[in-house]
Amino acid sequence: MTAAAALAHPLDLARALIRCPSVTPADAGALDVLQEALESLGFRCTRLPFEEDGAARVDNLYARIGAAEPNLCYAGHTDVVPVGDPAGWTVDPFAAEVVDGVLYGRGASDMKAGIAAFVAACARFLAERGPDFGGSLSLLITGDEEGVGVNGTRKVLGWLEERGERLTDCLVGEPTNPTRLGDMIKIGRRGSLVGYLTVRGTQGHTAYPQLADNPIDRLLAMLGAITAAPLDQGTGHFQPSSVVVSTIDVGNPATNVIPATARAAFNIRFNDLHTQASLGKWLRERFDAVGGDYELRTQDNGEAFLCPPGRLAAIVADAAERVTGRRPEMSTSGGTSDARYIHRACACAEFGLVGATMHKADERQSVADIEALAEIYKGVLDAYFPKD
Ligand SMILES: [Zn+2]
Repeated sequence: MTAAAALAHPLDLARALIRCPSVTPADAGALDVLQEALESLGFRCTRLPFEEDGAARVDNLYARIGAAEPNLCYAGHTDVVPVGDPAGWTVDPFAAEVVDGVLYGRGASDMKAGIAAFVAACARFLAERGPDFGGSLSLLITGDEEGVGVNGTRKVLGWLEERGERLTDCLVGEPTNPTRLGDMIKIGRRGSLVGYLTVRGTQGHTAYPQLADNPIDRLLAMLGAITAAPLDQGTGHFQPSSVVVSTIDVGNPATNVIPATARAAFNIRFNDLHTQASLGKWLRERFDAVGGDYELRTQDNGEAFLCPPGRLAAIVADAAERVTGRRPEMSTSGGTSDARYIHRACACAEFGLVGATMHKADERQSVADIEALAEIYKGVLDAYFPKD
């Protein structure tokens, strides 16, 4: 069997990738393994290491076959999260063992086996259609999706833009399915803002409240003002935004003392009706109305974004339904991904393996699902580049 023909089966490549312990920002040879596979299929590969802006050096890979448009890109990452407590694992996390038809290892779900499934789909597609299939296939693979992301996908997108290299659509291969392959395509994410509120008053005796200024009363009034009514009713593709108070801290051991300071933290998960800036303004308006001395610090954990489902999302849904018998839901739930950057460059849809064990001990994926995902991805390529 030639190297290219061997790649039509995703398991070997998935195992080779898992055997590289590429915990962010280490690459540990993972991109070399992938580059060798892609070059054997005819892809032109460019390595893009970046090390600016005070963050660790990260290696990235852009690979392309074909010169024509449309250019369908697959985006993913070869870095993985740390193992955690090794005692929680029943296998060596980097041995890529297959036990009873299930592949175990860090990255089995998120997302080395997903990358291997896409490479397998490319191998099958190119074997059938040859290199002149009426467009281009590309892969944008970063070594820093799980970390700070400073020298990862964002920088690669900047490099593509400088070169005038256009992506027409991007399939992001994160493990989007909560429990079964075919559950879910992701088309965006909610934004997240964390607020830290400190209210200052004047300490005093609880018997003489008129001589003190109790910060707890004002803190509760402020939290009440932001939780009393829903922020919105939701939008076409998003659930309603939520404001959740996560902690209230006064730490006052004395029952006869009015404390000087009271603190709280809260998390707003918001839809595309809001931004970090609009929510910051909304919060201050409400807190100012309560009045007094307070300090608000906000932490930006990402803006909401929507990739309006278009041709690619429809093609992925059709291909997933054909293989799994289930029509995936189009969802904006869950944690964030690099689609938050890529959607500014082109249309995006996210679909990959089952994410039930990602970031956990004994991360795993059934070999049957990895095979089925390769079949789904092959269906996507067939439909995206129809024979004329
Ligand atoms: Zn991931």
